[in-house]
Amino acid sequence: MELIDTHTHLDFPDFDADRPALLAECRAHGVRRMVVLGVYQDNWQRVWELVQSDADLYAALGLHPVYLDAHRSADLAQLGDWLTRLRGQRQLCAVGEIGLDYFLPHLDRDRQQVLFEAQLQLAADFQLPALLHVRRSHAAVIATLKRLRLARGGIVHAFAGSREEAREYIKLGFKLGLGGAATWPQALRLRKVIADLPLEAVVLETDAPDMAPAMFANQRNSPAHLPAICTALAEILGISPERLAAASTANACAVFGW
Ligand SMILES: [Zn+2]
Repeated sequence: MELIDTHTHLDFPDFDADRPALLAECRAHGVRRMVVLGVYQDNWQRVWELVQSDADLYAALGLHPVYLDAHRSADLAQLGDWLTRLRGQRQLCAVGEIGLDYFLPHLDRDRQQVLFEAQLQLAADFQLPALLHVRRSHAAVIATLKRLRLARGGIVHAFAGSREEAREYIKLGFKLGLGGAATWPQALRLRKVIADLPLEAVVLETDAPDMAPAMFANQRNSPAHLPAICTALAEILGISPERLAAASTANACAVFGW
């Protein structure tokens, strides 16, 4: 069973003590390729150095909405410079993590919107997919994507929206990233939505070190948990883990052009 973890933060200090051993463990579990997402200007160098140290890691660079107050006005131009410098590099795979977060009330929505649109434009300019963080903001994100229309689409990470929202994203060329959230038995609404998703729309992710699945509650999340997540999600979808693994891997390859 070969799996791709489409969303990790393996550069975070949580992994500093055991990163090489963890990557070996992931491979032993069939998780070879992993995407590491940049979240603010100061961590792009760390992300890029990490993926360069391992041929199976891929980088996305972006300005995450949750760190809105840490972003400086020059960071957007810097992102453009980074993307220009890395253009054509095999291990640069997307613009992300970008998006809109309406859950945290202190994050200014107008400023988020400006930053989000500018980064979607960069994804379009550099012909890269976009990896999206969407929290309580599906309507605004969908409206934005309808206006900007990204040729390469991307992934809505940790999708937890409705059936209708899923349908809109799929029409816009986006895949839905599924991970630990739906493994919790109390996530009834999400599990119902997932049960009806078309298999062509699904990619798998962990969001490690965050969003631990129910099977590994209160632990640091890791891409090595992806096979267990795949098995749990396959049960919700009513298919075999092997079938979900094959479909989600093919879908991720289609997004990233692998
Ligand atoms: Zn993330």
